[in-house]
Amino acid sequence: METPTGMRQPYHNRPSADHHRDGIHWSGVALLQDTLTGYSRAMFSNWLWHRPLELLIDAGEGLQLALGQKVWAPEVVAITHGHADHLMGLPGFVASRRFGKGAQDKPLTVVFPEGTAGVETMREMMARLWPREQFPITWIAMKPGDEHPLGRTRALQAFASLHGSAEQTLGYRVLESRRRLKPELAGLSQNEVRDRAQALGREAVMDTYRHIVFAHTGDSMPVPPGDVAKADLLVHDATFLDPDERKWGIHATVGEALQVARDADVACLVLHHFSIRYERNETLPKVRTLVAESGFQGDCWLLDDARLINLR
Ligand SMILES: [Zn+2]
Repeated sequence: METPTGMRQPYHNRPSADHHRDGIHWSGVALLQDTLTGYSRAMFSNWLWHRPLELLIDAGEGLQLALGQKVWAPEVVAITHGHADHLMGLPGFVASRRFGKGAQDKPLTVVFPEGTAGVETMREMMARLWPREQFPITWIAMKPGDEHPLGRTRALQAFASLHGSAEQTLGYRVLESRRRLKPELAGLSQNEVRDRAQALGREAVMDTYRHIVFAHTGDSMPVPPGDVAKADLLVHDATFLDPDERKWGIHATVGEALQVARDADVACLVLHHFSIRYERNETLPKVRTLVAESGFQGDCWLLDDARLINLR
């Protein structure tokens, strides 16, 4: 199912109030597996490709190998922070695009937190490895609130993540401009709305608002729910099961991520960065119990290595 702009329908079947107000029929339920391709192993490698948005979040090692011929697809790479497990795949990814047989000149935009030493190190490394090469890359330093357009109706916006670093660390959300009936006209009948629009113009009855279609916290303590409110899809750090296992306040627990998703009323939550200390066969039932008891009603998945595991 494709919308006119090429964006797939969301991957959930729980229409929100906004969807009703839009008068849009969200009948198509694209599979999450068709939307996200990624890898998550804390301290080893982390990256996620949102395919309909052609957006990569982070660039951990192995990225270009996993993408294969799709290495030319992403148009924007958004780096959340300068830690190696989110960055070490960037030179290889860039080189595969440039020296492989494909779209060698396809432009790439890399957005990253302003003043990140890790990103600057990757740039220097690329410049020294390939001194005569002009990579078609635009580098954009971001601060919380900064935006980069993604096509005509969407923008990538940075927000502050809580990763305890002296350097800036960021999460990202993709905001889509949508139209709806002005809330103060909700009591009018369809005919009354139509008459008013004919008399005063469409702008007199319609509002433009922005809806979060995708949000990614990067590595972070629980983010304020307002930063990800009503997102169709939220990817949240969920490193720990028990807050007592957390030595430094730089990562969230599964329970905290679920609480953010519940309070923000997101449709689909993907947990990532789950610590390798947990034996999976033993732990997944516990995670499923936490999901079931959390009060969060949406879809819930875990990205674990390259697998997306349904937690419902
Ligand atoms: Zn980190």
